[in-house]
Amino acid sequence: MAMKEYDLVVIGAGPGGTPAAMAAAQFGKKVLLVDKRGEPGGECLFEGCIPSKILENAANRYAMLKEAEGFHVELKSTPQIHWEQVLAEKEQIVKRRAEGAMKRIEALPNLDFLPGTAMFVDAHTLDVEGERVAFKNAVVATGASAHIPPLQGAGVEKAWTNADVFKNAQIPDEIAFVGAGAISCELVQMFNKLGVRCHILERGPRILKRIDEQCALIVQERMQKDGIDVVLNVEFGEIDGDVGGYTVRYTQDGEAKTLEVPYLLIATGRAPNVEGLGLEKAGVEYDRHGIKVDAGMQTSQPHIYAVGDCAVGPKFAHWATYEAGIAIHNLFAPSRHEIEPEKLAWVLFSDPQIASAGLDEAAAKAKGLDVTTEVYPYAADARAQIDHATDGILKFVIDNASKKIVGVQAVGPEASSLSGEAALIVSQKLSAMEVMGAIHPHPTYTEAFGNLSRTLFFKSMMARRGGGGHRG
Ligand SMILES: Cc1cc2nc3c(=O)[nH]c(=O)nc-3n(C[C@H](O)[C@H](O)[C@H](O)COP(=O)(O)OP(=O)(O)OC[C@H]3O[C@@H](n4cnc5c(N)ncnc54)[C@H](O)[C@@H]3O)c2cc1C
Repeated sequence: MAMKEYDLVVIGAGPGGTPAAMAAAQFGKKVLLVDKRGEPGGECLFEGCIPSKILENAANRYAMLKEAEGFHVELKSTPQIHWEQVLAEKEQIVKRRAEGAMKRIEALPNLDFLPGTAMFVDAHTLDVEGERVAFKNAVVATGASAHIPPLQGAGVEKAWTNADVFKNAQIPDEIAFVGAGAISCELVQMFNKLGVRCHILERGPRILKRIDEQCALIVQERMQKDGIDVVLNVEFGEIDGDVGGYTVRYTQDGEAKTLEVPYLLIATGRAPNVEGLGLEKAGVEYDRHGIKVDAGMQTSQPHIYAVGDCAVGPKFAHWATYEAGIAIHNLFAPSRHEIEPEKLAWVLFSDPQIASAGLDEAAAKAKGLDVTTEVYPYAADARAQIDHATDGILKFVIDNASKKIVGVQAVGPEASSLSGEAALIVSQKLSAMEVMGAIHPHPTYTEAFGNLSRTLFFKSMMARRGGGGHRG
């Protein structure tokens, strides 16, 4: 039988691969989408964004009931959380979303979905579990997996990663997290709200080392206030044990310590899924950071593109989808588009939440920009006072040369809902004056944008009059 030939094969049906395949099919191309899971959705749907937010949502609502007294609401009985029902609902939502995505794929007549593990045989042939497929172009969107660092001890391999934590039927009594990055920070606060005794152990001097320090410290202080055992400056020794009982040996400030915990989760970073893909045979270059791509998402092999977590660059679901759009445009449209990394926006669903768009202060300075920052603290904010949530800030990073806002960071209870305006400000390169021109309804957290812009405007007027001070 003749080998099937496609205009485009896409490996991986996550938030990178699925939209890439669908867009190409909508362009009229003959497309094959392959995924070893057999269902579309990727890690985002099955072990990442969606399950973590469903569980976190339940934990937040449970915690809010406990806070009700602070708002003069008396609960007549102790609230109970039925974790098995939360997990069952998570399964339903995940299933519904995977089925919905499959229906949308099946509705495109020139898009085929093939379950199975794919690998390149050469630069124009793919092997999917013994079946050979010829292709003109390819998009690799195989995602990333938990990266386990070279820690010592038999417990390291037995510990949970994000792939295991959402499957556990019981809420653990006590859990320790190794690494204080985004995944650990979201999960540790979720478990803490459920009444779990939580520890978070980090090599560095603070949590969330890749995030603006001022923002990260607000979350770190909240963790400490909420009784999470935040252990910093840790040098890890042996990690022994198995599910049900781990011993973590470490030193902190030269002092040897031991932590005994029934559950341990290691979340120390992400590694791109590049091994076993036959990338060498296809002439696609990669290293431990991922598949090497240019700003148009093209790899070292001109007809092969890579998007999402498997490629070098930011690792977010919406960013994978954005990169997919760029890749498909460059493959099939006559003009060329490039990613604009300075537009990156993301949300961390910590407590309080952190939203960021564009550059933070450190990133702007690393790029050689002369920047000024201005912060609006939530302490005097009407909405924050109503919500008893005054531990928050909105921060602008302003390029002194152009007067444009190149970065926005928000920390607060609804920071996720501010991420859209933050992304718009940065992507449209607005100045504080232009943000001030928008009406921000009272009393909402969005008023922070207007208030911060006004502060900047008045400072700049004073500086012009007085000849000094702020230049934004
Ligand atoms: C706990 C957690 C929480 C997260 N929360 C968020 C969040 O709130 N917001 C956010 O934006 N991001 C979040 N992320 C990150 C987000 O999940 C990823 O950025 C996103 O899934 C990347 O999409 P992708 O398409 O590149 O890869 P993936 O979603 O990983 O999809 C890759 C697909 O490729 C398939 N595959 C791999 N190798 C092969 C092969 N050889 N053959 C065939 N198929 C293959 C896999 O089965 C998988 O389905 C979170 C991640 C984790 C772990």
